[in-house]
Amino acid sequence: MSSRPRHTPETHAKGLRRALVLALDGATWDLIRPLAAAGRLPNLSALAEAGCADALPSTVPPMTFPAWSSFMTGLGPGRHGIFDFTQKLLGAYRVRFVHAGDRAGESLFARVSAAGGRVLVLGMPACHPPERVDGLLVSGFDAPVSTGTDPSRASDPALYRELAARVGPWMQPDLAENAGQAAFHERARETLLARIARKRDFTLAALDALGRVDLAVIVFSESDTVAHHYWRDHDPGSPRHDPAASASRKNAVAAVYTALDAACGEIRAHFGEDAACFVVSDHGAGGASRRVVHLNRFLADGGLLVRRRSAASRLDGLARTARDTAVRTLPPRLAEWAFRHARGAAARWESTVRFAGHDWARTAAFSEETNTQPGVWINLRGREAEGSVAAGDYERVRHDVIEALLAWRLPGPGGGPVVARARPREEVYRGPFVERAPDIVLELALEAGYAHSLVPTPWNAPGRTSLRTIEADELSGARGRGMNGTHRPDGVWIASGKLAHPPANLRSIVDAAPAIARAMGLPAWATGDGADPHAPEAASYTPEEEAQVAARLRALGYIE
Ligand SMILES: [Zn+2]
Repeated sequence: MSSRPRHTPETHAKGLRRALVLALDGATWDLIRPLAAAGRLPNLSALAEAGCADALPSTVPPMTFPAWSSFMTGLGPGRHGIFDFTQKLLGAYRVRFVHAGDRAGESLFARVSAAGGRVLVLGMPACHPPERVDGLLVSGFDAPVSTGTDPSRASDPALYRELAARVGPWMQPDLAENAGQAAFHERARETLLARIARKRDFTLAALDALGRVDLAVIVFSESDTVAHHYWRDHDPGSPRHDPAASASRKNAVAAVYTALDAACGEIRAHFGEDAACFVVSDHGAGGASRRVVHLNRFLADGGLLVRRRSAASRLDGLARTARDTAVRTLPPRLAEWAFRHARGAAARWESTVRFAGHDWARTAAFSEETNTQPGVWINLRGREAEGSVAAGDYERVRHDVIEALLAWRLPGPGGGPVVARARPREEVYRGPFVERAPDIVLELALEAGYAHSLVPTPWNAPGRTSLRTIEADELSGARGRGMNGTHRPDGVWIASGKLAHPPANLRSIVDAAPAIARAMGLPAWATGDGADPHAPEAASYTPEEEAQVAARLRALGYIE
């Protein structure tokens, strides 16, 4: 970068103290601690030593959309309304793709902006369409834009265009385009490293262009992506480990974390080391076990879910094939064109894949089978389109399903539980949007520290049981096998630099934004069980936008 650090005064006329938030998606102390001890993360180590460093419990589920939405608003998912990338429609066996318009609650960025502060927010998930702020907000990897250069992902398209022309776009969909290919793991590491450098350059240029920035929140998703795809290479204890993997693969996690540490150091030096500095992750990461869990198969075995005869399962297979053909076999631009000309295709296909083929009249409970939001819906009469469970039976059925899930054991003597927790949704969430969550909220158990993967039941595979141990040639993951690295509840919290208030440990990610606001001299606001926010506007993505979001999430492995 050409320009020198711009020394902005620590306190402005508005009375705001400046804060930098380095947001490392999916970063975990389980990786940071050993790498720091080996001297590989000098910048994060220095921040942690000088300030408060602790685990930051995520939302339930510990997933990118609900967790960053909680970070932004200081509210739990029941109050901000974002539970997953998709949302089942009330009363319909259909889903749609979620975006920032589904969120209730004011963001930290809007609050700082309203207080006269200038903000720079780069790469924050669940922020599209971008809200208007004083400064610049660029939405994250989930934004439905065709190329990284599309200025519609930014709150200030003209400024975005200018910066992209100078240093390149904030992000390109390069990884998504590689995802289906055989050499993905050999190439993705370099793609991630290049992406970190690009984001660093974009950040420094944006800070220069804006001149005075009171709050900067810079999101790096590379820590999450590298853990999903390279955990088994990094971790010799992983049941999916391949000792014969290349050194490049085995070092990918360390290389990405090291590059992130260096980028964080440069950004902090540029922002000004006198400012408050926070390091936050939305959830942690860990390894996957060799087990995949087919929840609907389990419900069917227990007589709770009934399938229609063969024609229906053929339809199910056809829908999946039609969807996948468009995603996989066409070059990205052509796939995009195809989506644009197949109206409503993405959400419709996704809905068909999740819900088609069930005999609703005889089905009491069903799951969307997404690893990003494990849960079970009761097929409640009067609520669901073809509900079969009478209102008077709802609690009994839900209780029975929970009991069955908790009694589910791994095979063999002393087999541990498959499900760690299964709770009624109102025990997990509070607020006006609890209805958006499945009736039963699940957390799958760990097996020797490794997580099972919830994967859609392959109804066309005869003899497939509800629990499957994947074969040796399936260990790296991909469709039907889960990713080899998965999320964990504990994220990262570091509060360092010059803070207006002494740094404190937090109960959960819900407390992060209010703590940052306090450090900046803004009034804190009610979090957790505080006042309900007003309802969000009821806008939704266009079919083309949904198609693009779906393709990106699928390429990254988040949806099947
Ligand atoms: Zn995440």
